[in-house]
Amino acid sequence: MFAEIIAIGSELTCGSKLDTNSQWLSRELESLGWTVMRHTTLADDMEAIVGEFRAAASRAQVVLITGGLGPTLDDITRDALALAFDQQLVRDHESLQQIRALFEARGREMPERNVRQADRPQHSDVLPNSCGTAPGILMRVSSDGDAMSVTSDVQQASKGCLIAVMPGVPAEMRPMFERHVRPVLLESGVVLRRAVIRTFGFGESDAERMLGDLTARGRNPEVGITASEAVISLWVTARSESVEEAERLSSETCQLIRERLGDAVYADGDDELHDVLIAILKCKNRSLALVEGATTGGQLAMWMSENGSVASVVKAAMVIPGGWDAMALRVLGVDPPALEIDQQEDWLTLATVVSEKIRLNYNVDFVLLSSPFYDEPLDSGVVIRRGHVAVSTADEIRSFDVSMSGNLAIFRQRAARTAVNRLRLMIKHEFFVGNADQ
Ligand code: ATP
Repeated sequence: MFAEIIAIGSELTCGSKLDTNSQWLSRELESLGWTVMRHTTLADDMEAIVGEFRAAASRAQVVLITGGLGPTLDDITRDALALAFDQQLVRDHESLQQIRALFEARGREMPERNVRQADRPQHSDVLPNSCGTAPGILMRVSSDGDAMSVTSDVQQASKGCLIAVMPGVPAEMRPMFERHVRPVLLESGVVLRRAVIRTFGFGESDAERMLGDLTARGRNPEVGITASEAVISLWVTARSESVEEAERLSSETCQLIRERLGDAVYADGDDELHDVLIAILKCKNRSLALVEGATTGGQLAMWMSENGSVASVVKAAMVIPGGWDAMALRVLGVDPPALEIDQQEDWLTLATVVSEKIRLNYNVDFVLLSSPFYDEPLDSGVVIRRGHVAVSTADEIRSFDVSMSGNLAIFRQRAARTAVNRLRLMIKHEFFVGNADQ
């Protein structure tokens, strides 16, 4: 059961507005079991719109259209719909009364140009707009391209293509979809269950290799891989005729993914890696301090302070924006050791001294630290940004190289997630070995 979405408006194609309607509608359709095959964004151009309406209706069983229902001359969606399917435009008197009443309720007279908002193709139904002036349009088009009203021809109701046209304004479009379009769509006959598993610690291609046949095209459930801010997400989409079967298929595949990716899996759903760490620390009654050089530059403190329940876990957070020089160390209450402290190699020695002091001063179990960074141009022209993060416990300190090329924000996010993930794994595997109940 295939669907397409068309967003209309020159403000979208010229880049001044983002098409969020199509994303929202796609999620709604997918949750009803429809597969969305195409998003199209069109300028206010009659020829392009008419051509696309015909093409989409010949490919899909559902076409959702937003935008271009306003009263101005560049709002041409109604006219294009009538032209595409050889329909006369007729004036819907009930709609006209409602538009007039809406203006009266606002204490204004209806401008003459708003009259055209009550027009619809002859064989179509009105979708009432409870939040604005522009009614929507519902229409069914047969496989021969003949238009018909959805309500008047019940026998044809499951054939051809269902077209719903809704206003562009999201606050008007969403309630119209929920009240008047979704009930007509419920009959897709397919139940869809979507789950997401979050992982950290390797790249997209490694994930694909480890998942093997699970990512094969045409498999049910489908497993899709996306990467964002160094987090690899696995989207599991199961389709079936019954809820029970869709849920069984989904949970079986999620279990296989967990087995194949092991420790890299840190959460199901939308949990962030740092929230997972905070929950573990809370549960084990352990505490943490952060000492951040420019490699994470406050990213850890920012993430952690977004979590409302962080107070009992993160006792202190400090950012050293420049080098770890004598002055910065004195501010932390550390006497600078006799070291060439600008050198990256010496950073771990400094980090050891600092973390011991911080652990004593703030009475914390762990300290996450990051170094200053520096940029190293390679002969190839690529610039590598070099930095380290470290995890300090009462027994040891471990440092991890987080060097990479590219954008500073991504470098920091990846470095911060590496620190968080390493502490998560240390707690899971080593630190509490033999003390699992702590
Ligand atoms: P109206 O009757 O209110 O004018 P309309 O159907 O004519 O509604 P448009 O004029 O095309 O809608 O768009 C009105 C506003 O709605 C746009 O300026 C934009 O802010 C928003 N909008 C339109 N299309 C989209 C879209 N696809 N995604 C997000 N916002 C949109």
